[in-house]
Amino acid sequence: MAGHAFYEEAKRTGATFHYHERVTGIVVENGRVKGVKTTKGEYGTKVVLNAAGPWARKIGALVGLDHPVNPDSHEGGITEPVAHFLGPMVVDIRPSPGSGNYYFFQLATGQVVFSITPQPPIPGFDRRETSVFLPQVARRMVALMPRLTNIRVRRTWRGLYPMSPDGSPLVGWSEEVKGYLMAIGMCGQGFMLGPGLGELLARMVTQETLSSEDQETLQILSPYRRFRGQEALK
Ligand SMILES: Cc1cc2nc3c(=O)[nH]c(=O)nc-3n(C[C@H](O)[C@H](O)[C@H](O)COP(=O)(O)OP(=O)(O)OC[C@H]3O[C@@H](n4cnc5c(N)ncnc54)[C@H](O)[C@@H]3O)c2cc1C
Repeated sequence: MAGHAFYEEAKRTGATFHYHERVTGIVVENGRVKGVKTTKGEYGTKVVLNAAGPWARKIGALVGLDHPVNPDSHEGGITEPVAHFLGPMVVDIRPSPGSGNYYFFQLATGQVVFSITPQPPIPGFDRRETSVFLPQVARRMVALMPRLTNIRVRRTWRGLYPMSPDGSPLVGWSEEVKGYLMAIGMCGQGFMLGPGLGELLARMVTQETLSSEDQETLQILSPYRRFRGQEALK
C-alpha cells in the first residue's frame, strides 16, 4: 500500500515509469554521463541514479565501478488478522542455532508480520521460499509468546537485502564519473530510509542548496568512507 501511494504521488508530480525495460548500458563521454541504454531504446540524460538494490554492483560495472554491495536473502511471513493484542514491535536479539535476531509486530489491520536473520547469512540472488524459515521462526516466536500458537500463517516470502560492508547505505555522487549518483547498499533498512533519502536525492539531482544536516548525512553515508564495524541490527 505504501509503495502504491508513492507511485501515485510520483505520477501526480510528473514522474513516468517504464516497466519491463532493463538498463543495459550507461553512455559516458569524457568522464561524464550522457545517456542510458535499455532493452527498448536509448535516452539522453546528464544524471543516472543507481538505486538498483541487490543489483547495484551490476549497474556500477556499466560505468567501470565496482560497488561493494552483495545480496543476501531474508524471509518474512504474515498471519491471518486477529483482534489487536500487541503494542510495540518485539525484537529478540538472542542468537540461536541457525538464526540471529528475529522480530514481529501486529499491523493495525490485525495481521502479525515476522522475519528472522539467518545465521550464517545466505548470500546470493535466490528468492525461492525455503522450508527452513517457518518452523525456525515459529518455534522461537511461540516459545517467547505462547498465545501465538494458534494463529494461522497466510503466506511467506523471500527477498534480498543489498548488503554493504558495514551495514549502512552508500549514497553520493561518483568522483570518477560526473553525473553518476549512488543510492545503494540499503541493507535491511531501505524501506524506512527510502522517503528521507528520496527527498535528499531529489535535492541533489536538482542542485538545490543542501542543508548542514544533508551534508552530515552524505558524509556519514559516503561511498568513499572507510568501512569499519558492522551495524548491530541489520
Ligand atoms: C524479508 C525482508 C524484510 C525486510 N524488512 C524491512 C524493514 O522492516 N524495514 C526496512 O526499512 N527494510 C526492510 N527490508 C529491506 C528493504 O526491503 C530493502 O532495503 C529495500 O527494498 C532496498 O530498496 P532499494 O530501492 O535499494 O532496492 P530494491 O527495492 O531491490 O529496488 C531495486 C530496483 O532496481 C531494479 N533494477 C535492478 N537492475 C535493473 C536494471 N538493469 N534495469 C532496470 N531496473 C533494474 C529492480 O527491478 C528493482 O525494482 C526487508 C527486506 C526483506 C527481504
